[in-house]
Amino acid sequence: MKIAVFAGDGIGPEVTREAVRVLEALRLPELVLFEGDVGGVAYKRHGHPLPAETLEMARSCDAILFGAVGDPDCDALERQLRPEQAILGLRKELGLFANLRPAKLFKGLEDASALRPEVAGAIDLLIVRELNGDVYFGEKGIRILPDGRRQGWDMMAYAEDEVRRIAHVGFKAAMGRKRRLCSVDKANVLETSQLWRDVVIEVARDYPEVELSHMYVDNAAMQLVRNPGQFDVIVTGNLFGDILSDQASMCVGSIGLLASASLAEGTKGLYEPIHGSAPDIAGKGLANPMATILSAAMLLRHSFGREADAARIEAAVGQALHDGVRGADLGGALGTAAIGDAIVERLA
Ligand code: NAD
Repeated sequence: MKIAVFAGDGIGPEVTREAVRVLEALRLPELVLFEGDVGGVAYKRHGHPLPAETLEMARSCDAILFGAVGDPDCDALERQLRPEQAILGLRKELGLFANLRPAKLFKGLEDASALRPEVAGAIDLLIVRELNGDVYFGEKGIRILPDGRRQGWDMMAYAEDEVRRIAHVGFKAAMGRKRRLCSVDKANVLETSQLWRDVVIEVARDYPEVELSHMYVDNAAMQLVRNPGQFDVIVTGNLFGDILSDQASMCVGSIGLLASASLAEGTKGLYEPIHGSAPDIAGKGLANPMATILSAAMLLRHSFGREADAARIEAAVGQALHDGVRGADLGGALGTAAIGDAIVERLA
């Protein structure tokens, strides 16, 4: 179990430290951790946000635990040297095409959600977002029209094999949950979405136990706040998934609670909290490490098949929240290390 730990910038090292403590507390004899530089700290030490040695370490390990990147000192650098490029580079170089973001309301946090407690209490969903295609990676440009007006354009496209492989991830995830998959598209206006829908229906034949439904993205945005409890697994493209996963995350209380996995074919994956480097609270010991700790649980589940260990971590976080363990993000007074302590204590 070779794990590369890339803590990165800002609160990244603070939250990653606690996740590593939790992993070590499980006393898994096969576990070996390696540390590498990414982001602004890597730029300052090596002149690049994703140095060759970091990439090599990522390639040679089975999984990556990632903190966050982003450093205000680097905001004026040319785009390819900015810290945030490290994450894009890792996605591309490692073929990380499937992004999994669970959103579940922990008991006792009903009041922390932006939604009414009785609506928020039902949230337990997983968004599976395609990460390597769509309008983000199509040809793009700004051109001058014959009448002299400037026009920006971005090409939206999905090839059927790209849809097929993310659909399989969605169906497999649904098989491990409540066996309901909702595919989100905009097939009423977009040809890309029509092909998406056709291919998802084809893939569904391999998963007769999964109940498949389709929803237009505008309706999905509405349903996520109206009745989020209706969803089990949502599978969608890069653009729609980007927006819906942020929306879903804010329904469960704090950004400091949300974990994610970005998976390649096979078992390799990169696991990170969805938040950034939070420069406003960096170095103060105030960050909530739960999202990173929950990312470590996802790492054990998806890259190593250690479901029982993953569930142990998730139960410890749930118990801590139930017992009133709260950082400033949830209106409490505990700091990063104290929250880590509380979770390690509850692992037993
Ligand atoms: P952010 O997620 O870093 O912070 C948004 C707000 O949430 C801030 O007020 C912050 O204090 C708070 N917050 C975030 N994580 C928290 C935690 N664990 N506990 C308590 N409070 C927390 O987003 P931002 O401020 O827009 O971006 C800051 C930097 O992070 C930027 O450079 C951005 O590009 C980068 N970023 C990186 C990633 C990544 O590494 N994957 C993701 C998003 C943003």
